[in-house]
Order: sequence, then structure tokens, then C-alpha cells
Amino acid sequence: MMQSRVTRTGRGEANLGSNRAVGILTIRDLGDVTTAAMGCRMSEIPDARKMFLEVPPYAEFTVGPGQFVDVLKVQFFLGTLDAHCLECGKEGVFASASPPLRDANTPRTKGSAPAITVEDLRDPFRQAQWPYSFSRNTNPINPLNLNQMEPWALEDRTFDVVFSCTRDSTHRLTFFFRMRDRTFSKVGQTPSLADLQATDMAKYRKVLGDDRHREFTKAVGLHAHGVGIGAFVYLRRLFEWLIETAHALAVKDAGWDEGAYQRARMDEKILLLKGRLPAFMVENRSVYSILSFGIHELAEGQCLKYFEPVKTGIELILDEEIERRARVEKEERIRKALAAVKGELGGRK
Ligand SMILES: [Zn+2]
Repeated sequence: MMQSRVTRTGRGEANLGSNRAVGILTIRDLGDVTTAAMGCRMSEIPDARKMFLEVPPYAEFTVGPGQFVDVLKVQFFLGTLDAHCLECGKEGVFASASPPLRDANTPRTKGSAPAITVEDLRDPFRQAQWPYSFSRNTNPINPLNLNQMEPWALEDRTFDVVFSCTRDSTHRLTFFFRMRDRTFSKVGQTPSLADLQATDMAKYRKVLGDDRHREFTKAVGLHAHGVGIGAFVYLRRLFEWLIETAHALAVKDAGWDEGAYQRARMDEKILLLKGRLPAFMVENRSVYSILSFGIHELAEGQCLKYFEPVKTGIELILDEEIERRARVEKEERIRKALAAVKGELGGRK
């Protein structure tokens, strides 16, 4: 079992102090850093969408008092998921295809009663029909209010949650969960988290080249399987390469202090390279101080926690490079078109 661990060495402690700055990050792009801290036992169950699309398998969540509701929100999620559909080959919207809780208060005219969200059941006067399960020996006696669902939510069991692509209902996303001794975890999914995330990354191949792109997808794949340190090491290599690329340009600037740069920690280097890196990274540079840690100083839980912000930093640099290349290409096209027009005008003289 992987456990969250705090480095107690002097340097680690000092840096972890600045890690608390994570709590005041305002930019939403960074994602919820606390929920990225997978692989270690966590006390807060992430919201359902994160549980499906971001949480790696086997991250364990202790279900505290009242948190059975969060488990139910995953099991009976009625919203949609935006995800890459591997079969359509493009981004898709997926709708729930699992049996929902059904409203017991709405008089049924024909067919099934309407589905009801767990949030609606917070109203103590609302009740729902818990879907009958063939896989269990006993089923609850319906209808139930939210509090009456607690023992059924906390019961040791596995369940799946299925979504289907709104373009073609045979295209499916399936997630498997387990509840055991009040510990909740995702124990599998198909397509894999790595496959779902890898498709987002194809656009970076051109900028990174094949080898570095392979390392990037490897980092994301390892993270998706809950491997913290290994994933982080690949990501750090890539990050350092991007910083080094910016550094190579900065060296030519007038007044550049190479000595100061060489002595600086990663967060300080980012500040020195200010004009050449995305503003987001410069503003949130304290997060990147972790990149100065030695491999032996990194704990599994820390690596998983810092994976998302470091990955976001890399993507921002790459996004800017993609934009810059597109602009150059466009300018080149316009230059040629204008030259042709000029030529024609010249011929009419
Ligand atoms: Zn599809």
C-alpha cells in the first residue's frame, strides 16, 4: 500500500512550506492538486467526474462520516462526461447508461419513474427506488430516503458505472469500483485512463518529436496507473529540457547573469526566464521548486500530487509553441499570396 509521506529532511521541509502555496493558486487550469495526490490514502472523495476521468486506479479513499453520499454520487451519477471517444476518433459526450435511482415521489403514469439525483435526495421528504441487483443476495426494501441508503452504500461490494457515446450508444466507457471496509477505490476502467489521456497528447508530437513525445506519453501512462516517482522522473526530464531551450535563448540577452542562473533553484530559474515562459508558470513558480529535489528525496505521494501542475506547465509551453508555429505558417502563406498579387499588379502596368 502506498502511503502519503512528508519528507522530514531540512531542505524538504523548507520546500514543503512553500508547497502550501498550492492552496492559494487561483488558476483553474491547475486542476485540483489535492485530488491529483493519488496513490496515497485520501480522506476526501473527489467529485464523480474526477473519479471517472482523472483518478488513477487503486487510489484509496477512506469513507468518513456522511461521505457515503459521495460514493452514491459516483454510483448514480446522472451527468455527462466529456471525453475522447476512441471509436469515433474524436472528442465526444458520454451519457450515463447505468440503472439510476428513480424518484419514488413522482406518481408514475407509464413506464419507469424519472431518474433522481443524489443531490435532490438531500431533501428529507424525497425517496427513491434503489435499482434491483441480480448480483446480490439481498436488496434494499424500496423506497429509501438518503439516510436509509447509507448501509447499502457502505456495504462491501464492487459495482460498475457505464456511459455511452451520444453519437453511437455502442461506444462505451466502463468504470469499476470497490467498497471494502469503508475504503472506496476505482479498481479498473475501459478504455484505460492512459488511453483516454494519450489521445489528448497527440497534438504535441510535432513540437516534441517522436522520442520526447514517447517519454511524455510514458509519464502520463505511468501516472494513470498510480506510479508516482517513475512518472515524475519522465516528466521532469521533459520539463528541464523545455526550460533549457528557453535558457539557451536567454543567454544571448544583454545583461544575462549566467552565474546567478546556474546557482538558482528551479523556481528561481523560472523567474529569471520570465519573458520566455508562460505567465502562468511564473506566477505559480513555487510549485516547481519540487523539481529541485533529488530523486531520493521524492516521496511517491508527493510525485503524484505534483504531477498535474508540472504537466500543465509543460502543456502551456507546448501550446504557446504550437500557436507560434501556426502564426509563422500563416504569415508565410500571406507573404506568398501578397507577392503573387504584387506580381500581377506589376504585369498590368
Ligand atoms: Zn463514439
